[in-house]
Amino acid sequence: MAADATILYSEDEIRRRVRDLGAAITDAYAGRSPVLVSVLKGGIVFLADLIREIRLPLRVDFMSISSYGEDAGGVVRILKDLDADVGGEDVLVVEDIIDTGLTLSYLLGTLRARRPASLEVCTLLDKSARRIPPLDVRYRGFDCPDVFVVGYGLDVDERFRNLPFILALDRPAQLLEDPGLLDGFLQVPPGPVA
Ligand code: 5GP
Repeated sequence: MAADATILYSEDEIRRRVRDLGAAITDAYAGRSPVLVSVLKGGIVFLADLIREIRLPLRVDFMSISSYGEDAGGVVRILKDLDADVGGEDVLVVEDIIDTGLTLSYLLGTLRARRPASLEVCTLLDKSARRIPPLDVRYRGFDCPDVFVVGYGLDVDERFRNLPFILALDRPAQLLEDPGLLDGFLQVPPGPVA
């Protein structure tokens, strides 16, 4: 693979961290049935692996949001809300990545207003150096450097979520312009990704 699209976290490293996180969550929530809330679409790969490492009778639920961008201070519009009420429940928000934290901070505010019994966050990647609002992140897979990452649920223009590892890119558009960088991992027709 070219030097400008390097593997930041391998399949093995991710598997080991997810196993550790699952064990920590199993211990912390022993005797309870938490609801794991995932934000579509980036969080689905992590969620799918994480829940199989948690030995508890948990539930999963999904939200879909549309961000108005950093200028809007992280205000988001809810496109799809949770299916079930989380009042009185132990809610664990499962995120793929926290960058500035603005989106998550807004989301936590809306969830807190529903009066869950507890509300915690588990993120696979944390770009903690870029954090704007203070956030209490209870479970963290990796403290991620300030680079653009893709794979294991994270996309560029809706593509490449299916990579089983996480790549660091110089520029997000790099893989769209030259998908040949992924030779051996994805079968792609020659030329830029349409
Ligand atoms: P925040 O509100 O924390 O700044 O933004 C978080 C969202 O930005 C994530 O849920 C994700 O969709 C996107 N994001 C932030 N950094 C990256 C990155 O390095 N790669 C990808 N693919 N998305 C990112």
